Amino acid sequence: MLDTPITFLKGVGERRAEAFRRLGVMNARDLLYHVPHRYEDASTVRRIATLRIGEDATIIGTVVSKGVLPTRKGLRIFQAVVQDESGLIEASWPGQPFLDRSINKGDVLLLSGAVRFYHGRQLMPREFVNLGAEDSGTAEGRVLAVYPATEGLSFKMIRGIIDKHLDALIPALEEHLPADVLRETELPSLQEAMRLVHRPPSVAEALRGRARLAYDELLAVHLLQRRANAIARQARQGIAFTNKRELTSRLKAALPWELTGAQVRATREIVADMTSAQRMHRLLQGDVGSGKTIVALFACCLALENGYQAAVMAPTELLAEQHFRTFSRLLAPLGVEPVLVVGSMTAKARRAAAARLAEAGPVLVVGTHALVQEGTQFANLGLAVIDEQHRFGVEQRATLGAKGGAPDILLMSATPIPRSLALTLYGDLDVSVLDERPPGRQPVTTALRPESGRARVLEFVEQQLAAGRQAYIVYPIIEESDKIALKAATTAFEQLTAGPFAHRRVALLHGRLSGDEKDAIMRAFRDGDIDLLVSTTVIEVGIDVSNATVMIIEHPERFGLSQLHQLRGRVGRGAAESFCILLGDVGPDSLERLRHITETEDGFEIARADLRLRGMGDLFGKQQSGLPAFKIADPVRDEALSELARTAAERLLRDDATLSAPPHRALQRMLTSRYGRALELFRVG
Ligand code: ADP
Ligand code: MG
Repeated sequence: MLDTPITFLKGVGERRAEAFRRLGVMNARDLLYHVPHRYEDASTVRRIATLRIGEDATIIGTVVSKGVLPTRKGLRIFQAVVQDESGLIEASWPGQPFLDRSINKGDVLLLSGAVRFYHGRQLMPREFVNLGAEDSGTAEGRVLAVYPATEGLSFKMIRGIIDKHLDALIPALEEHLPADVLRETELPSLQEAMRLVHRPPSVAEALRGRARLAYDELLAVHLLQRRANAIARQARQGIAFTNKRELTSRLKAALPWELTGAQVRATREIVADMTSAQRMHRLLQGDVGSGKTIVALFACCLALENGYQAAVMAPTELLAEQHFRTFSRLLAPLGVEPVLVVGSMTAKARRAAAARLAEAGPVLVVGTHALVQEGTQFANLGLAVIDEQHRFGVEQRATLGAKGGAPDILLMSATPIPRSLALTLYGDLDVSVLDERPPGRQPVTTALRPESGRARVLEFVEQQLAAGRQAYIVYPIIEESDKIALKAATTAFEQLTAGPFAHRRVALLHGRLSGDEKDAIMRAFRDGDIDLLVSTTVIEVGIDVSNATVMIIEHPERFGLSQLHQLRGRVGRGAAESFCILLGDVGPDSLERLRHITETEDGFEIARADLRLRGMGDLFGKQQSGLPAFKIADPVRDEALSELARTAAERLLRDDATLSAPPHRALQRMLTSRYGRALELFRVG
């Protein structure tokens, strides 16, 4: 019954079925799972008469008049006056004259947006739903369930069709959660949840129903990914290193500081992986400055003391050089000399490096993607470390992993995300987290300053430069092309060098420069030969210039929070007090958002806020993300549910890896019928 194609349901013709398919609804089960994406009731919907300028509000009203207005600038604006029992307001959609065709006089609209003053009160809708021509009010405790609609299938049609079939379809739903798991979640049964989301007695009950469906999705993803991980791990034969405690112990003794608790934990997890017979496939994530490099170096030493080669690949020459210097310094007392391989090396130096890698002896090599190019051969690569892993393509990462025999792989990332989310995103990886900062790190004083304070901010920068410090001024990339940012940065550079910083050494760094030119400028800055670096966002994220104490960020509203946090991580690296100043006039929304940056330096918290505000695609990039498809759950907002689902998934798989025991069969059936991958993962026998 639930598999009945959507076309065969009463009230759905071929045209509507086509529209349903666009919404991902193919059969009766999908129709049940096409759940409202928001709920409104008298407590969330405001009476129009009470709206005040500057507020953000949701209203429901009937269109009493409408029309398209041209403006002097040639922009056409659709406007509608809507009315509820308390009063009237004008709603305005600049640049959307086409709405005139779909919104009619008499239609009831649900509108959400900011109220501003423009010849009176005016609502600027961020979002709206056309509820159709009849009263769909939320008075007297009624809850309005709003369904995602599409062209050719209005909200009203969807609601009507679901309402018609709900009572017949719900009894066909099979409870797939084992009784003990369901009890532990304290969530409603599947049938009850379905009734609650479609016919909610209250918003709170609707959300309880939604939570159950979200839990199911999260549980499914955790089960699939954990199971896939376990199978892949068994199949990944790797090197079983022996923990000889030779180089690693000597490295530990030679370190100028103690490892943080988090570093010790991560190192232990890595050692456990490397000493097992299976291949390591681990992600080490930690905030900027949390000390990932040293953890990687311990892993390298373990490979070296077992007679293997270890490779560390970084996204730019500058970073590779920086790691090379760090490693050379830390390993000198151990008598180990690392090798550098970057594209700009002379042919002679390159040949010398290649010769060392061709010998089957313990060598630590640090480099750029030159490491994965032809011509770099490893005699016995035992460990591949990939720093700032998101900056490499999937192929480059795979190529380094394919060098040598089957080296263990350690990926490093400076975009920390909550562990449970990391597990849903990177299910095929094990995850270690550095959630502790090394002691003695200075906090970075962060402040937002309006345009009117620019002169004083620049004065402050001058004071710092006069004290022998260095500074950054960063411009955002505006639009896809770097053009406007380049212009902004170039103009600023010219003005600054002509005026306030005429006597300082100022350089301009931007994306149009060649890699060599960029590296040359960053090197000069690192070596203290440049005082002030004016830059677009190409500025190197992993770079460590401890004498830089100020960063000015222009147009801070154009950056994501995580990006701001990473930029800020360029200062506060030395003993001196450091400052990050977000400069410019920003709107109230941005102000609210940027407060996360001025108020905390916890990268996890910032990433969480960023994910909540901007979604995952923005943070990870579309093709990198490999996000599992969630229809109902949101692994960020539903972090607590995800955590609950993760522990349940782990327990279930530990007890019954293929979920084939009688109490688990319904769950197994659900997985195999709804997730293609599950057929293979939970095949019995
Ligand atoms: P990231 O995680 O951003 O790659 P790094 O590995 O570059 O961070 O470390 C940042 C700085 O902190 C380096 O200068 C490093 O020497 C220092 N550092 C790392 N671990 C510790 C520690 N346990 N105690 C003090 N300083 C440390
Ligand atoms: Mg780093």
